[in-house]
Amino acid sequence: MKQSLLFVPTLRDMPKEAEVVSHKILLRGGYVKQSTAGVYSYLPLGYKIIKKIENIIREELDKIGCSELLMPALQSKDLWVESGRWEAYGKELMRLKDRHERDFCLGPTHEEVVTSIVRDFINSYKKLPLALYQIQTKFRDEFRPRFGLMRGREFIMKDLYTFHATPEDLDEWYLKVRKAYQNILDRMELHYRIVSADSGNIGGSSSEEFMILCDIGEDTIVYSDESEFASNFELYNLQVGDPSPDGKGHILHAKGIEAGHIFKLGTKYSSPMKANFIDKDGITKPIIMGCYGMGISRLLMAILEQHYRDEKAIWPREVRPFDVHILPLDKEQTANYDIALEVYDKLNKAGYDCLFDDRQESPGVKFKDADLIGVRNRIVVGRRASEGIFEFKDIKENITKEITFSEMMSMNFKR
Ligand code: ATP
Ligand code: MG
Repeated sequence: MKQSLLFVPTLRDMPKEAEVVSHKILLRGGYVKQSTAGVYSYLPLGYKIIKKIENIIREELDKIGCSELLMPALQSKDLWVESGRWEAYGKELMRLKDRHERDFCLGPTHEEVVTSIVRDFINSYKKLPLALYQIQTKFRDEFRPRFGLMRGREFIMKDLYTFHATPEDLDEWYLKVRKAYQNILDRMELHYRIVSADSGNIGGSSSEEFMILCDIGEDTIVYSDESEFASNFELYNLQVGDPSPDGKGHILHAKGIEAGHIFKLGTKYSSPMKANFIDKDGITKPIIMGCYGMGISRLLMAILEQHYRDEKAIWPREVRPFDVHILPLDKEQTANYDIALEVYDKLNKAGYDCLFDDRQESPGVKFKDADLIGVRNRIVVGRRASEGIFEFKDIKENITKEITFSEMMSMNFKR
């Protein structure tokens, strides 16, 4: 990709509205732009990373047998009255009326819609289990939108719903999805902890949250210094030093960002909405359900919160926007520029996703922008290019060295 064609509006100065480093980098690096409080545009660079996050999620969910669909954001009040949530959801639900004064909402989550689809098509145990997910824009009128993408009023979420004939089958799927979530967060190189949680507005019998460990987290995790016990503070108001409820060790606190939340719903939606099936013995029963959310736009920031140095992004391998950044340094675009073009061509052919800074800008501007974009492997085509010597910089390891053309060709830029 030629950089002149990639729209990356970097900012010279630190944006004042950003309180946390990840938010500053996203604004400064031209990844996102705020439209109004809690509402963002994902600019090409930010959206490229979002798509990589989405694809990791798709790969891991498809692997365990989930199918992707897309449901409407616009939902009629009737469905929410059926589930009892039109009143219960409260002010977070974005409500609106159409021209005929009929009530609608913009979906904050999709239990109602997905249950209404399944009840119309599934009537026998023979068609279960089923696992349906979507990646979609969600709307929640948060009391306090905060920290940029962390708590938006419009945000991107992956939501998965599973349908079962027996509680045992739900248990089995719950564990499969839990493992898939671990794979997803591992591939994004995140440090996290799985904690038991309060089921909140979604409901159901039990739930767990995937907490990205980090100081700016809004959630407090209570955990044992000796065992696997870990919970959201909301659930167990334990103080530092209290004995752990499982009898092993003492309590410590940590801050976390909730990246995902998985629930055993049971029949909370299928019972009132009459999503029934006929089981093996010919008895009609409500379908047993699970639901599993993951915040995609929130992850964009959460990843960054764990992957920066000196307020500059160092994206993990699987989500980084490019493999190699090529910087020709002569502004006049003469001989060195042609050598740089050849490097670009060869590395493209070798299968690398390259960003080529073809702009007529000074070296200072190019380096500054390159730091903000955060591509791990950088090749500078400078003074000694005519002798076949290039400067290579590994941003992650913070190593700079001179390399020859053939050394460059034998390097692995996918690592
Ligand atoms: P929180 O406690 O942070 O408000 P929640 O429990 O309301 O989250 P869920 O309803 O379980 O969240 O939604 C699933 C996922 O969607 C969350 O784990 C989170 O990653 C993401 N998410 C929830 N609310 C927002 C928001 N306002 N902005 C961005 N992402 C969000
Ligand atoms: Mg919430």
